Amino acid sequence: MTVYLVGAGPGDPGLLTARALELIAQADVIVHDRLIPAESLAGASADAELIYAGKEGGGESVAQDEIERLLVAHGSAGKLVVRLKGGDPFVFGRGGEEAEALRRAGIEFEVVPGVTAGVAAPAYAGIPVTHRDAASAVAFVTGHEDPAKPESALDWDALARFPGTLVVYMGVRRLPAIAERLLRAGRPADEPAAAIERGTFGDQRTVTGTLETIASEAAGLRPPAIALFGPVAALRDELQWFERRPLAGLKVAVTRARAQASELAARLRTLGATVIEAPAIRIVPLDGPAPEMERYDLLCVTSPNGVRLLFERLRDARALAGVRVAAIGPGTARALADRGIVADVVPERFVAEGLLDALSRVPVDRALIARAAEARDVLPDALRDRGADVDVLALYETVAEPLSDAERRALAEVDYITFTSSSTVRFLDEIPTGARLVSIGPVTTAALRERGLQPEVEASRHDIDGLLDALLKDVRSARRVRDGATRSDRGASPLQPPPPDR
Ligand code: SAH
Repeated sequence: MTVYLVGAGPGDPGLLTARALELIAQADVIVHDRLIPAESLAGASADAELIYAGKEGGGESVAQDEIERLLVAHGSAGKLVVRLKGGDPFVFGRGGEEAEALRRAGIEFEVVPGVTAGVAAPAYAGIPVTHRDAASAVAFVTGHEDPAKPESALDWDALARFPGTLVVYMGVRRLPAIAERLLRAGRPADEPAAAIERGTFGDQRTVTGTLETIASEAAGLRPPAIALFGPVAALRDELQWFERRPLAGLKVAVTRARAQASELAARLRTLGATVIEAPAIRIVPLDGPAPEMERYDLLCVTSPNGVRLLFERLRDARALAGVRVAAIGPGTARALADRGIVADVVPERFVAEGLLDALSRVPVDRALIARAAEARDVLPDALRDRGADVDVLALYETVAEPLSDAERRALAEVDYITFTSSSTVRFLDEIPTGARLVSIGPVTTAALRERGLQPEVEASRHDIDGLLDALLKDVRSARRVRDGATRSDRGASPLQPPPPDR
């Protein structure tokens, strides 16, 4: 069977190629590096064997010949093997050596190039590695070797004269020696320079300076990082984008059920946040017969889950032909519309009380409320008070989802925790102090108060858009306070300082 040497890109899972995703999904065995984020492996089959062959910076690592032995062993066992490597497999990735080992063993291989860090990290920092006016060539250089040693394989004098951008991989620790060596060989002291840590990850940090100052500017950076020398580095002032997005540098936790988290998580990521998924709840469908819809003149649905599970029971949308349909909010209305039902009533406030207001002029005789088993009884009680016959159809139960240790650790470090329902509040076993709490609306806020907590942010529109608006407003005002504050006040803000530019 073929062994695939696949580039995973520099970090951002969105930079995996279509071919890489396809092969990850098909793989029997995936041998991956340390820097590959778990998200990039999410598409792997549940039966796939994941083998970690990480190289910790300087520390424990799986020896290269051991990796090659693994690839040969699994490849000759007839398994579909994906060797997933950071960036591009043939750029400082020892992919060449692995291909040689496979060729020697007579095993077929294919190479799937990836987006290399030396291009992607600058791009996310707002630095084009070439530019018509600023650089017509680019060199990828390893910073692994000590430039002071005479046996270095690199000709630093020639590199100093190189007419274009120099991108140095694996060089943060040696940056002082490298900059020194280039200066000594005559590269101009005032040439713009940059260093980028964890490029394309949500917590990317960039520092800029000149060949003379970059080593001290970058002293606080940790691997993985690349350094870059050349006039193009100055373009960042104008072209910076990634670290400027509204939620850049912030970690935001999503506590809703794993199956429901993706929309909110995707929206947060687009705004620049690093999303920590810490699902507090899980939806457990309840079994039961299809409701006899012809007995009712009003159907109320209170969540997209309710819509999905109701249709699993009904199976045929025509069952709703004669009944007026009320949805609690736009998300629920959208779930109905996806199934060809346009809600007759959608309130302006997306809580039970809002739905009641909206129903005040609707004549109701017999109502069915399709919802979670444990929901509040505001809606059925009030409709009964108005003389209606009300049945409650419990379609699902919301139960606690225990956090894994990794999720718990990640949650302890977030800047914001979002709560999109009172059950996410009630079932999250530990709400770490230090994070700002964001509530989707008054019912969720009341649940927080019951736990003795007061949310810093409450959405005035009780849906995802409203929650994001409120969160953005809080970030903007906190950043205004921080930026107006004196230097010594820094750190008093719950928000991290801006990326250490300059
Ligand atoms: N094959 C990889 C490079 C592997 S060498 C590629 O094509 O990108 C490892 C070095 O790559 C690190 O020391 C660092 O210099 C660089 N690197 C990898 N990922 C990076 C990232 N996300 N941001 C900055 N540099 C990165």
